[in-house]
Amino acid sequence: MDTPQRAGHVAVIGRPNVGKSTLTNALVGAKVSIVSPRPQTTRHRLLGIASFPQGQILLVDTPGLHRDQGKSTATAMHRWMNRAARGSLEGVDAAMLVVRAGQWDEADTFAYQALRQAKVPVVLVVNQVDRLKDKTALLPYLAQVSEGREFAAVHPVSALKRKGLEPLVNDVLALLPEQAPLYAEDEITDKSQRFLAGELVREQLMRQLGEELPYATTVEIERFVVDGALLRIGAVIWVERDGQKAIVIGKGGERLREIGAKARQQMEQLFGAKVFLETWVRVREGWSDDEAALRAFGYHD
Ligand code: GDP
Ligand code: MG
Repeated sequence: MDTPQRAGHVAVIGRPNVGKSTLTNALVGAKVSIVSPRPQTTRHRLLGIASFPQGQILLVDTPGLHRDQGKSTATAMHRWMNRAARGSLEGVDAAMLVVRAGQWDEADTFAYQALRQAKVPVVLVVNQVDRLKDKTALLPYLAQVSEGREFAAVHPVSALKRKGLEPLVNDVLALLPEQAPLYAEDEITDKSQRFLAGELVREQLMRQLGEELPYATTVEIERFVVDGALLRIGAVIWVERDGQKAIVIGKGGERLREIGAKARQQMEQLFGAKVFLETWVRVREGWSDDEAALRAFGYHD
């Protein structure tokens, strides 16, 4: 029996840190979107391409909508991230609203209402069920959050442990139009390797730098050269002040070496090639609130 294939765009929406990027990666089967324990790790809108025998889900992973939206404290970077999140609803066939199991607050209600207003079918993904201490709390929680709301389906999952994903995929595919896959099966994202390389360095900045510092950094890939079986990559880490530069480099260059080593490992895994990575740290004062600098660093549509 031949069931026709389905394919379409699905926005992945939810509060920062609920696991949108982890879910995107789990469905794609590769790390196309960087993940860290910190909120606002994802800055760009990114397409994750998840191919299955029954069809193709094009996951639009987004930065979470920002709280200080509209307030004067919102920097140009924050405004950029909000635009990327809102723009993700245009032209999608469905949305996955991702929440953390056991939690629901007004930001989730806000996201739900925005999705309903946009008239996209919403699949509720209750993520991080592995973290629930009391498993008997799950059923009452599911009943409570579904009450009075219209979901095309509700799926408790663990994106991290890849639990519950198959039924989720089936229900999401059912919401998509019947059509042949839109991308080749071996494609995993709409972003270039150059972009992904920069993101993998940024992921290490998010993971290895304390407190506020990661938010003052960005990464520019200055060089991306295919040299036989080797990739030669040169990455500039931009910071806002001299003091920050010293912290990123660390004592005797130790921290920068560690950032480079981890990022290189991740690149080799994602690209399936040997990588020679060089990193530099440079200062550009106030880059995160400077529209021209943002554009130069790739934060543009
Ligand atoms: P995003 O901001 O919504 O994209 O969230 P991320 O995907 O970056 O994940 C935020 C943090 O939650 C990371 O530390 C992930 O490892 C963690 N995380 C994501 N999904 C799960 C899950 O199913 N279980 C557990 N225990 N942790 C998760
Ligand atoms: Mg993310």
